[in-house]
Amino acid sequence: MITQIDHIGIAVKDLEETMKFYTECLGLKVTDIETVEEQKVRTAFIPIGEGEIELLESTDPDGPIAKHIEKRGEGIQHIALRVENIEKALEELKQKGVRLIDQKPRKGAGGARIAFIHPKATKGVLLELCER
Ligand code: ZN
Repeated sequence: MITQIDHIGIAVKDLEETMKFYTECLGLKVTDIETVEEQKVRTAFIPIGEGEIELLESTDPDGPIAKHIEKRGEGIQHIALRVENIEKALEELKQKGVRLIDQKPRKGAGGARIAFIHPKATKGVLLELCER
């Protein structure tokens, strides 16, 4: 059901400034920059081996990333696990009584279908399920 860590989502105030660190200091490449209106974020993807780092900058002061930064500061916001079939994964979790944020998949960056598990169910980690 879960095949790998898909990406790690990092909340940042300034996407361009943060990208500079990853490209100039760490020698990595940004492959895609995308705005996801639905989630009020602008994202930059930085592949590392099989996984990726996803930098997230809020496009709105009321967006989830802006709120995360307000409460906890910049840093890791979520960890995404890749699943083969997101509907099946959500169904299995519901049957096990796991608290979910998303009952149904929604659209994520890079054409992925995503759904979040509630951090109350995971000892404080916001876990994203991600199907590509
Ligand atoms: Zn993500």
